[in-house]
Amino acid sequence: MGGDELNYVHEAFETNWVAPLGPNVDAFERSIEKELGNAVHVAALSSGTAAIHLGLELLGVGPGDEVLCQSFTFSASANPILYLGAQPVFVDSETDTWNMSPELLREAIEDRIKNHRKPKAIIAVHLYGMPYKIEKIRSIADAFEIPILEDSAEALGSWYKGTSCGTFGDVGILSFNGNKIITTSGGGALVTRNKTLRDKAVFLATQARDEAPHYQHSHVGYNYRMSNVLAGIGRGQMEVLKDRVSARRKNYEFYLNSLSSQNELSFLPEPKDYFSNRWLSCILTSCYDMRETLRMALLEQNIESRPLWKPLHLQPVFKDSKQYLDGTSEVLFQRGLCLPSGSNLSQEDLERVSETIKNALS
Ligand SMILES: *Cc1c(COP(=O)(O)O)cnc(C)c1O
Repeated sequence: MGGDELNYVHEAFETNWVAPLGPNVDAFERSIEKELGNAVHVAALSSGTAAIHLGLELLGVGPGDEVLCQSFTFSASANPILYLGAQPVFVDSETDTWNMSPELLREAIEDRIKNHRKPKAIIAVHLYGMPYKIEKIRSIADAFEIPILEDSAEALGSWYKGTSCGTFGDVGILSFNGNKIITTSGGGALVTRNKTLRDKAVFLATQARDEAPHYQHSHVGYNYRMSNVLAGIGRGQMEVLKDRVSARRKNYEFYLNSLSSQNELSFLPEPKDYFSNRWLSCILTSCYDMRETLRMALLEQNIESRPLWKPLHLQPVFKDSKQYLDGTSEVLFQRGLCLPSGSNLSQEDLERVSETIKNALS
């Protein structure tokens, strides 16, 4: 925590705004809007997953539809496709950002259209905080008139050409889960430049209650709004977002500097005009065995590390889905390792991690 969170939480208690609405929710939304810029409107929700669910519904996804989704991501990017009775179609990554390959995206769209199944939406992800190929993905989406759901759960504080991640999609989503760069313990947000969409998201998130003195419903609603208590944590966390981003980037710089002489390892540099929050610091090893050797050597020192996300097309739960692949995400999964990346790592911690890696390699 940063420092001011508890004051805002106390305020919620003292004013008895212990509900999924109130002054902290409003102020948290305004502070996210201010941080992101680009004239967006924000709806604070109970999780990033809830935001993806509502976002897809607002983009018109329903039973039987197909939705294109980056395969190299966390399962929460794709699960809401199934909540809506739709089907995911997975698209592989490219090697510059590790995110959705524009070439495979185009191939997938053209092939699905040939099969008379024009996709309803594209879910593109800024994985580990690295922005995807913003302009290429946008121009393909526009050419085929398919909306983008921008999964920015890991990329608050990242930007491309000076514009914040979270503001590039027709709908963007953020996560404030406990593991993210800032947190409300659990929480998320839907982001859009379209005020009507934002208001519709709030309507659906609060049980879709029509205007009437009694409870009247003409839509299926959800209970997805953020608690005013947790939004208080969020207000305090927004004040330290910049510090968190700089701490994460320092972790990455440290690993890069101390390990760059190791020929077996490589890093993911920022392409020109890219700024990553470096949510997690990741390395690529030269093969699966080396990845496992390093992971076990770290574990022996009681240091947790983790393979990169397992591509969703390899997950048993999605095994029957259509896929457009070139092997990139499978290689990343085999060879990649997420290193300790917390905002509170000390210099000593970082040195211990890098020494352990160097020793294992020698
Ligand atoms: C964390 C995460 C989500 C889900 O957010 P929650 O707030 O945990 O529901 C979705 N997509 C990605 C890429 C994530 O990392």
